[in-house]
Amino acid sequence: MNEHQIRRDLIKFSHLCYERHLLVAMDGNLSVRMPSGNIICTQAGCHKGFLTEDELVVIDATGKKLRGRGMPTSEMAMHIACYNARPDVNAVIHTHPPLSIAFTIAGVSMARCVLPEVVLTLGVIPTVDYATTGTDDLATRVGDAILTHDAILMDRHGAVCVGKNLLEAFCRLETMEHTALITKTARDLGGVKELPAAEAVRLRAMGLKRYGGPPSAVARADHPCVDLPDACTGCSGCATPTPSGIAPKSDLKLARISASPVHSLGDALRESDPIEDMVVAEVLKALSKR
Ligand SMILES: [Zn+2]
Repeated sequence: MNEHQIRRDLIKFSHLCYERHLLVAMDGNLSVRMPSGNIICTQAGCHKGFLTEDELVVIDATGKKLRGRGMPTSEMAMHIACYNARPDVNAVIHTHPPLSIAFTIAGVSMARCVLPEVVLTLGVIPTVDYATTGTDDLATRVGDAILTHDAILMDRHGAVCVGKNLLEAFCRLETMEHTALITKTARDLGGVKELPAAEAVRLRAMGLKRYGGPPSAVARADHPCVDLPDACTGCSGCATPTPSGIAPKSDLKLARISASPVHSLGDALRESDPIEDMVVAEVLKALSKR
């Protein structure tokens, strides 16, 4: 792929990140490592939804600006840490996906085995501890995590997803946010049932062999729990869900799953307070007259 095609893709995927609500305003940054080893990245302080050709900057592998208007993004140290950690990675996307970030703020881990397709293609999504944005400290933490994962979250900040190209990195980002949406919805409905540990381990090994992943994980694909961090032993759920892995009581009274079998609409609706009971009684009366 030549530089012209890379520039075109950077613009296309920047716009997509905005359109898919994975970032807003001046958030986030995207980069691609070119065959020369130089990196082409989004300029600091530009709107990704309206990114244009002249808002891309070329830097060398150490972060020194070579070409382009403006300055490279202040978060480039993070991108460079990813490229240094993984020779197989040629694209990095950093965005602020709202649901995924909310998980980090709520202290709910996404490093859990819930959706078979995600375990197969992505493994689990770890969260790196909080560090100030744009610092070497954060870049080091991100580089360390990317060694063994293709998609990670930074506490209270956002996502970093990598791939051999922008499409692969973008797919991982979309999958992360989609998983957050499904997991949040399941929690709202009553709780998250995790995959049995043995199935999670089997799926991950199968996925690494079939679809690839971080080379360090692929090399150990047959090792139990390979890149499932503290997998299925330290993780909060899997075969033996603990109370912390189950959703707190939801305010969605109509959607809450009852602990005991529900025999009628009335039973389901009646799990509420006295005022709501009166409303429910009226609704049921009106329905019975139909
Ligand atoms: Zn950021």
